[in-house]
Amino acid sequence: MTLPAGTEPCHAGVVRVALDTPADDCFDYLAGPDVSPGDLVVVPFGRRSLVGVAVARAAESAVPAERLKPVSARLDWLPPLTEEWRDLAAFAARYYQRCLGEVMLPALPPSLREPEGWPRLAQRARTEAYRLVPAHISTLLAAVPARARSVRALAQALADRAEGHAAPAPMSLAEARELCAAAPARLAEWVAAGWVEVLAAERTLLATAPSQAPSVAPPLHEEQLAAVAAIGAAASFAPFLLHGVTGSGKTEVYLHAMAQVLVRDAHAQVLMLVPEINLTPQLQSRIAARFPHLPLAVLHSGLADQERSLQWLAAHRGEARIVLGTRMAVMASMPWLALIVVDEEHDTSYKQQEGLRYSARDLAVWRAKRLEIPVVLGSATPSMETWWRAEQGAYRKLVLRERAQAEAALPAVRLVDLNHERQRQRALFEGLSVPLLEAIEARLARGEQSLLFLNRRGYAPVLACDSCGWLSGCPRCSAYLVLHRPERRLRCHHCGLEAPVPHHCPDCGNVDIAPLGRGTQRIEEALAARFPQARIARIDADSTRRKGSAQAMFDDVHAGEVDILVGTQMVAKGHDFQRVTLVGVVHPDAAMFSHDFRAAEHLFASLMQVAGRAGRAGLPGEVIIQTRYPDAAALQALQRHDYDGFAAGQLRERRQAGLPPFCYQVLLTAEHGQLERALQFLQAVRRLADGNVLAPEVQLHDPVPMSMVRIAGRERAQMLVEASARPVLQRFVSEWVQTFSEAGADARGVRWQLEIDPLRI
Ligand code: ADP
Ligand code: ZN
Ligand code: ZN
Repeated sequence: MTLPAGTEPCHAGVVRVALDTPADDCFDYLAGPDVSPGDLVVVPFGRRSLVGVAVARAAESAVPAERLKPVSARLDWLPPLTEEWRDLAAFAARYYQRCLGEVMLPALPPSLREPEGWPRLAQRARTEAYRLVPAHISTLLAAVPARARSVRALAQALADRAEGHAAPAPMSLAEARELCAAAPARLAEWVAAGWVEVLAAERTLLATAPSQAPSVAPPLHEEQLAAVAAIGAAASFAPFLLHGVTGSGKTEVYLHAMAQVLVRDAHAQVLMLVPEINLTPQLQSRIAARFPHLPLAVLHSGLADQERSLQWLAAHRGEARIVLGTRMAVMASMPWLALIVVDEEHDTSYKQQEGLRYSARDLAVWRAKRLEIPVVLGSATPSMETWWRAEQGAYRKLVLRERAQAEAALPAVRLVDLNHERQRQRALFEGLSVPLLEAIEARLARGEQSLLFLNRRGYAPVLACDSCGWLSGCPRCSAYLVLHRPERRLRCHHCGLEAPVPHHCPDCGNVDIAPLGRGTQRIEEALAARFPQARIARIDADSTRRKGSAQAMFDDVHAGEVDILVGTQMVAKGHDFQRVTLVGVVHPDAAMFSHDFRAAEHLFASLMQVAGRAGRAGLPGEVIIQTRYPDAAALQALQRHDYDGFAAGQLRERRQAGLPPFCYQVLLTAEHGQLERALQFLQAVRRLADGNVLAPEVQLHDPVPMSMVRIAGRERAQMLVEASARPVLQRFVSEWVQTFSEAGADARGVRWQLEIDPLRI
């Protein structure tokens, strides 16, 4: 970090700085010629000092010269953020209707966003190196007494390097310390005397020593070869959809495509995105084993600040050749980026649900286009948006039809019709049907593993009084408090409110209050009662709260120390469980009543995912789905492993109804203590659009209360805006937002939020 040169700074001009505030896009400051676009700077802002990104230099400013303040500091050891990175941020800001700084600053690692973090990071990222000025060789040697043996050795080593060189090779502090424990103090003296020079050197941030045995790639099968060749042949922007069932060898294709790029060019960097943090360790070791000598950086929000900053820095300096990360990594600064892979591209985790509500997948495609590089979107169940683009030829489709390992056939899918079970007078045991229980029993007998999937954590979703009908509603939300039995608490999963479990009905005093419905804790308990000899593990957000506990539990499953695994979607994704031969889906029906037009798509994708955990390594797999709606399209298609048929049906319906991907949407939500006020705000805002020239092509729906109206005491309403083309909608929205945020609507007390391409409506 340097203060502007000298005591009397020379300001050669104006620099525009992006700051993390919604107030404006950029702010002007005075800066010397050393500040260039892409630099991180500290500037005064009101009474505070803020870190900002210099985005452009300008000859003059609209702000009167006497009011311009100088930049206070520049992070001089950080290579500037590239133009490409700045373009990406600018695009995201434009597209998602945010200020530039609101996109740029949050995309930087925490220690860089605060000036206090800079020195410590510099210390970790850089090291000092020393060299003797050749003219002072004899002075130094004469000054060091022969009896100070280690000091003498240090001086001699420096002298040896300097002898006969105009610019001697520098010696790192670590090297110097090895020769002489007192090196730091001695070197400081010699530097002060002018005999030795200090140079700053970058410290290597990522270990490249192989931590495990290198793996050998299996020979690829024909479809994999074709896919790898197609990706390898792409010389410019080329979006691919790699469509292959779970276990078809998509990851193997990614690894080969990465290898091609990394070998071709000694600088090239590859970015691979995955939807979940808990998927990174498994993939990380797979990548590390395949590329044992290439530095690999990992980026996700589970890393401690300092660690995340160093990983980010390794990517930014080009040291990391491979960056593996969750959605946030799409904004990683990678100057030599040459290939992007988005695994499980359909996954909703790629959409950020707060703040800048971006889609990492969509930004990845934009970034690839900007850089003119290939991007591979992989999935067994592509999103309708991606599928439609591939159908139209905008994305190139690469298909893997079979599972990669010959002996791993796709699992048989059986639907257990609960209506039928009831007719046969076969009672469910705590929500578990006879066929499912028998199937688990058979696995236990054979020493194989079963996985039970239920996307609902806690013990029971609600507590109910039999005599007066009281339900455990959350006082602050239109939702129920969920019973967490082991913890003896009622919890709201929306606002976080907690309460003790009442002993009797708060309304009528009845002591017979009972849990209604089932969550993972209750299924775990039922299984333990039914199969006392079985080793049962439950993996959900509650059981894995402690850092590292999820990984430890997955390790147990992989090591065969678990017979039955119960879990939420945390267990469904990506894991390569070698010994799971049965997957049971306890209760998928809730999704069938959703108002969200994407519910069927998401249900199909999550069932296909979880079904894919069965029978991956040789042993035949079976999937049992309990349902009262066995005729539902998603379940029928799943039974036939027919994604294409399912997608065709979905697209037909969406086209008829004029829904995405056949239109583009923007959702404006408003919240206030009273619903009426939120609705009034939306109505007022809507009226402002009526006179707009662009409005005829844009459809504004009526403001409506959201299906979950109250969260944490605030009531919420929404208004959907649609158009058949993106540019039209973009132009309309940016004008409209400007109008209503400037003057138009009375927003007093109303908080509003705009979401582009909303995922849940
Ligand atoms: P996906 O990413 O589609 O789920 P993976 O790439 O993880 O599939 O492959 C599934 C399993 O098959 C892995 O254990 C992988 O090592 C193995 N595999 C992949 N390709 C081949 C191949 N060509 N020959 C043999 N085994 C393969
Ligand atoms: Zn009661
Ligand atoms: Zn609540």
